[in-house]
Amino acid sequence: MIEVKNLSHSFRVGKKGTEKEIPVLKNVTFNIKQGEIATIVGRSGSGKSTLLNLISGYISPTEGELIIHENNVTNFNEKEWAKFRLSHFGFIFQSFQLIPSLTTFENVELPLTLKGVPSPERKKQVMDLLQNVGLHEHASHYPNELSGGQQQRVSIARALITKPSIILADEPTGSLDTETELEILDLIRSLNLEKGITFCIITHDDEVAKISNHQFHLQDGVLSKGGAFVEV
Ligand code: ADP
Ligand code: MG
Repeated sequence: MIEVKNLSHSFRVGKKGTEKEIPVLKNVTFNIKQGEIATIVGRSGSGKSTLLNLISGYISPTEGELIIHENNVTNFNEKEWAKFRLSHFGFIFQSFQLIPSLTTFENVELPLTLKGVPSPERKKQVMDLLQNVGLHEHASHYPNELSGGQQQRVSIARALITKPSIILADEPTGSLDTETELEILDLIRSLNLEKGITFCIITHDDEVAKISNHQFHLQDGVLSKGGAFVEV
C-alpha cells in the first residue's frame, strides 16, 4: 500500500552562493502493507519527521519514488497532494494540534466540512465516532478542558472521521504519561484489528514499537529492517 523506493532527501541550507546540501535521508526503501502497523524508530535528528513529511507530500524527495495505493505520487503537485491526503490519510501528532477555539465535536467535524459533507450527515458520523472512541460525554468540551489522553483521543477521532486507509502518526504518545500512553496504544491496536486501518508510526519509544507488525530503524538517514513484534 505504501512503497518507498530508494528515497533520498537533502536540505539546502545557508546563504545563496555558500549553500550546502545536507543529506538527511539516504536511499530509503521499505513497504507497508494494508492492515499493518509499521513503526519507524530512531533517535532525535535521525530523519523520522522528514520521512513522514515525504510520505505525506509536504516535501518532495531529492531522489527516489513513492507509490501509494498503486498511484505514483512522487511528482504530485500541491493540489493533487491536498486531494489525495484528504481521501487517504489521517494524521496524529505529538502535540495533538487541536483547534483551541473549537469543541471536541467541532474539531472532529472539521475534515468532513472541508470535504463538503452536509451537516446532518456530519452530525451523525461525528457522534457515532465519538461514542466509538469513548468521548461522547466530552463532545461540547474545549481542548483546554480535556486531559492529554482525552485530547489525543479527539485528534485520533479527527484523523478517523474521513475513513482514511492509512494513519500517519509522528510520536503520538510523546506527550503522555506511561498509563495514558498504554491506553492510546490499546486504542490504536483495536482500531487496527477492528477496522483494518494501516498505521505508520514514528517514534523513539520501544513501548510504541511493541504494538507493531514491522519495525524499521532509522539511523543518520539510513533505514534498516527490525523484527516483527506482533504476528500479522
Ligand atoms: P527527527 O524527526 O528524527 O528528529 P528530522 O527529520 O526532524 O529528525 O531532522 C533530521 C535532520 O534534518 C536534522 O539534522 C535536522 O536538523 C535536519 N532538518 C530537518 N528539517 C530541516 C529543514 N527544513 N532545513 C534544514 N535541515 C532540516
Ligand atoms: Mg521528529
